[in-house]
Amino acid sequence: MNYFDLPKIDLHCHLDGSVRPQTVIDLAKQQNITLPSYDVDEINALMVAPETCPNLPEYLSRFDLPVSVMQTAESLERISFELFEDAAKENVKYLEVRFAPQLHIQNGLTYEQIIASAVKGMKKAEALYDIKGNYILSMVKFLPSDTIPQVIDAGVGLLNQGVVAFDLAGSELDGFSHDYATFAQDAKDKGYRVTIHAGEQGCGQNVYEAISILGAERIGHGVAIKDHEKAYNLVKEEDVALETCPSSNVQTKAIPELAQHPIKAFYKDGVPVTINTDNRTVSNTTMTDEVRKVMEQFELNEEDYYQIYKMSVKHSFASDDVKQALMQFAK
Ligand SMILES: [Zn+2]
Repeated sequence: MNYFDLPKIDLHCHLDGSVRPQTVIDLAKQQNITLPSYDVDEINALMVAPETCPNLPEYLSRFDLPVSVMQTAESLERISFELFEDAAKENVKYLEVRFAPQLHIQNGLTYEQIIASAVKGMKKAEALYDIKGNYILSMVKFLPSDTIPQVIDAGVGLLNQGVVAFDLAGSELDGFSHDYATFAQDAKDKGYRVTIHAGEQGCGQNVYEAISILGAERIGHGVAIKDHEKAYNLVKEEDVALETCPSSNVQTKAIPELAQHPIKAFYKDGVPVTINTDNRTVSNTTMTDEVRKVMEQFELNEEDYYQIYKMSVKHSFASDDVKQALMQFAK
């Protein structure tokens, strides 16, 4: 199978984890930001996490450098454009990118400006390439939650015009959903779809609560449900799609090695699964690589691939028109 040529969909990709190293250098120079090096290989080495990280903070430290240059409207627009361009060039037909506006206010940008800049870069790429996309606004759990309503309100003007969903990201404590119920409800009331990072570092109970308390329609990762019957059954009953990110799961030790990833068992048992990158730069990957890894490791065939592709279309937050167009690529 030619994995590069396959039409692909990525529903779980972080903007700040997918920045081109050369772009970090260019933007740092423009903005007079001092970097530890201006050599693209050295910057790349600082942005890519090891294949297995000693711990999650080690993985998350890889985001500091890109975020430092993502504090202007121009840089956000450029990085957004380039991410969609990179994905389009490997036949990703639809891409949902998530990012945390709360991380981009260091130079005084408003949340509206931050969101509009990212969407503008995406629209530019959509006009040039055969790719469609949407943005998911991630709220970071390690930051004070009192700014969440402002972020939600700032995205409302672009809802269904580039912005589609609400997400919670950042380290995963047991029972976190209880602290975010009112925020998720506020987002839903205003028209946002909901996907939540859960069951990655944390327990299956977190997935159960993300669905039952926060109303998650999709779950970022969710691998922990393999050991939690109640969560597993709820995912199946409610037809909640898992956004699995195989390379990232190995890097962060969410699973010990790829061979032990539950994606095939989930798929064979009728759990909706999707294949995604998480972070193209930090995880040193592409959609082509992620698809190849899953297909080869688990000996899946083309028919399996298109089943998973169709699940990605069905569970995407795309408009009906875009979904219809994406289905045209499926065999
Ligand atoms: Zn993620």
